[in-house]
Amino acid sequence: FELYVNSITDPIENTRSFLFVFRDRTNEEMADEMKNEFISIVSHELRTPLASVLGFMEILLNRDIPKEKQKKYMETIYKEASRLSNLINDFLDLQRMESGKQAYQHIPVNMSAVVRDVSEQWQGKQDHRIDTAIEPEVFVTADIDRMTQVMHNLLSNAVKYSPTADRIAVRVAKDRDYAVIEVQDFGLGIPEDAKEKLFNKFYRVDNSDRRQIGGTGLGLAIVKEIIESHHGTLTFESELGVGSTFRIRMKTYRATGMGGKVVIVED
Ligand code: ADP
Repeated sequence: FELYVNSITDPIENTRSFLFVFRDRTNEEMADEMKNEFISIVSHELRTPLASVLGFMEILLNRDIPKEKQKKYMETIYKEASRLSNLINDFLDLQRMESGKQAYQHIPVNMSAVVRDVSEQWQGKQDHRIDTAIEPEVFVTADIDRMTQVMHNLLSNAVKYSPTADRIAVRVAKDRDYAVIEVQDFGLGIPEDAKEKLFNKFYRVDNSDRRQIGGTGLGLAIVKEIIESHHGTLTFESELGVGSTFRIRMKTYRATGMGGKVVIVED
């Protein structure tokens, strides 16, 4: 809060009146904080890959480099350019969602299949073992591309923030009328004071244990935005040094057969 005090003296009545103005600066401060975080992310996350793209391009263009080295440099350029492209895509995705311009498909989606596919992709990509416990045919009404994006973001974090653990557990189950999807890791965990800010855009935990891990602070903001647009909930439990579990709950979708035709019923 900011407090302004004004006093007015009335010489005839010989009285003095005070005017107190309390101003809540929370929103402005939050906006400032977000701007600062945005600038620091942009300066690091955009400039670092761009510097390396330009550097390697310059070497390739100006020097005689053996063939096999050329390929290595080009792979690095590709990797860094992809990082840039992901950042820009995430940023624009979130912008579109927040402004209500994102059109979501509402079709029956078999989350068991989505989670299985995404888990398999991550299984092939890195060293972590992904243990899955997936109940078959857990359907929700959703946008399949966006739900795939949600699972990629959660698995990507589980992998990124478990530098020493080698296992991730993924579960899909039904709990009465709800689909429950969990991604659990045994990694760094989330400090208590970071928990309430975790879904804010551009927010990144600034602990020494993860300063080397790249990111934009947009992944979880996107997940939250998508899940809430589907009227679902996103929660997590986490303990520093023990691990984290992210949990999605969404109403399941029921298909009813009528006269041999499948009719879609929305809950
Ligand atoms: P990013 O990973 O790009 O920083 P996110 O929005 O996905 O952005 O996550 C925000 C922050 O939350 C991260 O910087 C990280 O410190 C923390 N975090 C997210 N997921 C996990 C996880 N599974 N384990 C530990 N910390 C996590």
